[in-house]
Amino acid sequence: MSEAPRKALHTTTNAGIPVESDEHSLTVGSDGPVLLQDAYLIEKMAQFNRERVPERVVHAKGSGAYGIFEVTNDVSQFTKADVFQPGKRTEMLARFSTVAGEMGSPDTWRDPRGFALKFYTEHGNYDMVGNNTPVFFVRDPIKFQDFIRSQKRRPDNGLRDNDMQWDFWTLSPESAHQVTWLMGDRGIPRTWRNMNGYSSHTYMWVNAAGEKFWVKYHFKTDQGIDFLSQADADAMAGCDTDYHRRDLFESIRSGNAPSWTLKVQVMPFDDAPDYRFNPFDLTKVWPHSDYPLIDVGRMTLNKNPDDHFVHIEQASFEPSNMVPGIGPSPDKMLLGRLFSYPDTHRYRIGPNYTQLPPNRPRSPVNSYAKDGPMRYEPSAASAPYAPNSYGGPAADTARFGEPAGWQTAGEMVREAYKLRRDDDDFGQPGTMVRQVHNDEQRARLVDNVVGHLAQGVSAPVLDRALQYWRNIDKTTGDRIAAKAKPE
Ligand code: NDP
Repeated sequence: MSEAPRKALHTTTNAGIPVESDEHSLTVGSDGPVLLQDAYLIEKMAQFNRERVPERVVHAKGSGAYGIFEVTNDVSQFTKADVFQPGKRTEMLARFSTVAGEMGSPDTWRDPRGFALKFYTEHGNYDMVGNNTPVFFVRDPIKFQDFIRSQKRRPDNGLRDNDMQWDFWTLSPESAHQVTWLMGDRGIPRTWRNMNGYSSHTYMWVNAAGEKFWVKYHFKTDQGIDFLSQADADAMAGCDTDYHRRDLFESIRSGNAPSWTLKVQVMPFDDAPDYRFNPFDLTKVWPHSDYPLIDVGRMTLNKNPDDHFVHIEQASFEPSNMVPGIGPSPDKMLLGRLFSYPDTHRYRIGPNYTQLPPNRPRSPVNSYAKDGPMRYEPSAASAPYAPNSYGGPAADTARFGEPAGWQTAGEMVREAYKLRRDDDDFGQPGTMVRQVHNDEQRARLVDNVVGHLAQGVSAPVLDRALQYWRNIDKTTGDRIAAKAKPE
């Protein structure tokens, strides 16, 4: 808004017809009734009534920017994906968000942050829909809806409720790693520029020779990790609900383009069956000592959207957008998300959402999709069916390869991942508290948990929460208990 004023244009209707007034409806005399034939007034009212699309059911509040991803290291021995080939530069879009809050909620509430990326590659859009945490609260997609409901609002009074949150978490011990992460300093990043992004999921990489690898992505902030204390975040929520959105926009506008260095952990394909815990379990990280970080490249966000709704609200990220050289893994949460994301886009902004500016691939689209609401790009297919004898298109398997998959067989069951020798829910969060946090961080963790438990958590749930923390780390649990439930 502080840009130089643009040359005044004449107002038109949406059909481009010059309007007669910006200020007055068409009436019978200046005091008279408003006329139904004022098509411009009706267009304005009707358009206004339809301005909103449904907000995202999760990650509703966020913002983002366009940028560039450049490869700085040679990882072609692991993947043939064009976006990761040496020296390659690929245009991209990023969106950061909170998870549980609504579209107008404060940016500084304690919550994981979404870290969604779209790379406009030569072979279509590649989306990495991650978070600022390397793990997640649950490991089976059948629990995701329940988890989110426990973080949102009660059906009776419409209020958020810490009792629901701790009830769900303590009944779901696999949440312990992510909850420990959330209650620590990184649970409220100072800005989006000051947080890392992680794929969290494991993906498959396939090289030009067809060899397969398992990978996890780590986007490390070049601005340095920084956080807000609970008190500072609470104060900020009261004075600037849009603090993170504003920071990103202003930073890019002033020429201070934030960047992140992409590193990956690569696990040889054949390590997975015998690794000491299931490497596809989304509640666990791969220790760096087992799988060190390998440099890949850098992403820089340097272009603000010129229209937030068009480019960010309508941006549709979907983990199912995987390009040749990249595939899924047996992570059950990832496999659930492959369905869920495109499904929600079709509901939220319509089946032709891939034709909208942020979602439109920058490579040719030769699909057989046709018609449907708001479609405006003609189909490139020479006939509306495949195969056809009028010029295709036709799948080029020889060029783009077979699906990136793995061998599997077994009975149909409803069972957790099979336990391995080092599989437990409390081990890795315990390591974080004891070996990664320093004394000050542990003290803040205790205070953050005590403060959270003090807000409406019922007695039986509180007792379970204290045991949950003692399971993570006995000393930390005892310190929380001493403050949350003094004898
Ligand atoms: P390392 O010592 O090699 O790695 C520790 C990791 O912890 C670093 O990636 C560091 O990120 C991150 N970290 C530092 N402070 C915090 C904090 N306050 N909250 C969350 N993360 C923090 O050890 P391991 O790889 O063996 O992992 C040990 C534990 O560290 C794990 O159990 C897990 O809880 C946590 N962790 C591990 C990650 C992994 O991918 N291996 C990633 C993130 C956390 P940075 O380099 O940015 O400072």
